[in-house]
Amino acid sequence: MSSVTKNVQEVLEDIKKYSIYPERVKLVAVTKYPVVTREKMLELIENGVFSFGENRVQVLEEKLEILGEEKNKIKWNFIGNLQKNKVKYIVDFIDMIHSINKLSLAEEIDKRAEKIGRKIDVLIEINLSGEDSKEGYQLEEFYKDIEELTKLKNINICGLMTMAPNTEDENLIRGSFRKLREIRDEVNEKFGNNLKELSMGMSGDYKIALEEGATIIRIGSKLYE
Ligand SMILES: *Cc1c(COP(=O)(O)O)cnc(C)c1O
Repeated sequence: MSSVTKNVQEVLEDIKKYSIYPERVKLVAVTKYPVVTREKMLELIENGVFSFGENRVQVLEEKLEILGEEKNKIKWNFIGNLQKNKVKYIVDFIDMIHSINKLSLAEEIDKRAEKIGRKIDVLIEINLSGEDSKEGYQLEEFYKDIEELTKLKNINICGLMTMAPNTEDENLIRGSFRKLREIRDEVNEKFGNNLKELSMGMSGDYKIALEEGATIIRIGSKLYE
């Protein structure tokens, strides 16, 4: 068995083993790395992995080119910092944008979506790590904007996303995932929203994220080892 196949199978097994609701969990294969050739992407597809994640518009466009017709099979997830002036390049086909980090970005997506008659699935990214280098809403800002965000008619806020702090300390990592879940539940109670998704967990910490209720895990490097 080649490594991509073996690694995908391992992650799928881990979902069953660690998740509290394995049937709800979606694997997004992060394809942003230069090692991810056309062959590797086709192998992901052969293994039933159709959700790909990219964090830069230009690299995403390169992937579309490399994949040719196969690109239509893919549900594209945008997981990185999205500049407002780049929204127009992905709004036609993007399946989910995980990284709403300010109101003005959400408004731009809403406006572009309305123009083409699409409703775009999005997640709000929250920075719980306290690290300035990480993208995402500061919690206070998020609470300030949430009502305005939910008024935008052409985006569908499906849930929240976060990246764990850069640490070996499992308790801190677990704490940040748990916190995201608690915020999600609290927002649902307060605003009667129906935020279902928790996009959390990467190669190094996805097992913890699954235990804490992740519904979407974003796995890159582990798949190509
Ligand atoms: C790169 C990236 C991932 C995947 O990270 P790995 O450690 O390679 O699994 C997940 N989420 C985001 C936002 C990323 O930028």
